[in-house]
Amino acid sequence: MRISGKELSLKLKAELKEKVALLKKEAGRAPQLTVILVGNNPASVSYVTGKAKACEAVGIDNRTIRLDASTEEASLLGLIADLNADETVDGILVQLPLPPHIDENRVIDAIAKEKDVDGFHPLNVAALWQHRPCTVPCTPKGIIKLLKEAGEDIAGKRAVVVGRSNIVGLPVAKLLLDENATVTIAHSRTRNLGEVTREADILVVAVGRPGTITADMVKPGAVVIDVGVNRNSTTGKLCGDVDTEAVEAVARCITPVPGGVGPMTIACLMENTVEAFEAKLPR
Ligand code: NAP
Repeated sequence: MRISGKELSLKLKAELKEKVALLKKEAGRAPQLTVILVGNNPASVSYVTGKAKACEAVGIDNRTIRLDASTEEASLLGLIADLNADETVDGILVQLPLPPHIDENRVIDAIAKEKDVDGFHPLNVAALWQHRPCTVPCTPKGIIKLLKEAGEDIAGKRAVVVGRSNIVGLPVAKLLLDENATVTIAHSRTRNLGEVTREADILVVAVGRPGTITADMVKPGAVVIDVGVNRNSTTGKLCGDVDTEAVEAVARCITPVPGGVGPMTIACLMENTVEAFEAKLPR
């Protein structure tokens, strides 16, 4: 069975649209998301376009600020300071990666914690690890929603996360732990990866390398979440990290690429923006 992130994202966006309409009546304006794109990396351009379209579908005001690839770090930081101070801006997202002359950490640190809809600010990360109120990063948040949609009762299950990045692997491992799974994190130095992944009732793969997970590495009946976004070198088509067709025959369910985790990431960005807006309303 395939878990359709596309369908679930449409459901979430429809619910958010209704909520935004109500909030707009209450506050006299819609939530506002400002996206900053530095340069014109084709993947980033397509992500930013997808985010703008999702805002439109949900009723969130969206502004995309496109800056030249040669923009200096100081001027980007100045722009972020202005957006932090602007009461009408509820969410700020700087599309990553940034050109090499700009320090990504300095940029992430500059975004006000309350407007950090990506959930990358160190104060949000610390709050996540300490069970405090925070913005939950979009991809991990979407993965938990997909597991629940698949009817997976996470508590007590063995979960294996392959990948330990700040944006996917580490936070999704923490969220799975919060759902009471027993979590193992694997990475490039893990010995005998298949032995580890075969233990998993829930297998989340966020590596960025096609064919990382083959059918013999999956426990029969497991739920497999494929986060990877890669381009197949021969067909030119998008593919994940998991050998989908072969694994599908072994797993209970699997997310496709495209149409799995990706649309949920964007839908959760919409949810985070609405939550940032709501948090500002006097209640
Ligand atoms: P990343 O920062 O490059 O991290 C990759 C992780 O994979 C690292 O922890 C690395 O281990 C591990 N790894 C590399 N080779 C491995 C191997 N042979 N066996 C086991 N682990 C291995 O990547 P990321 O940002 O987490 O993204 C991962 C993938 O997800 C990419 O394809 C990205 O495009 C995709 N992604 C998709 C979405 C979405 O919404 N669909 C969102 C974010 C990312 P070390 O730590 O030891 O180096």
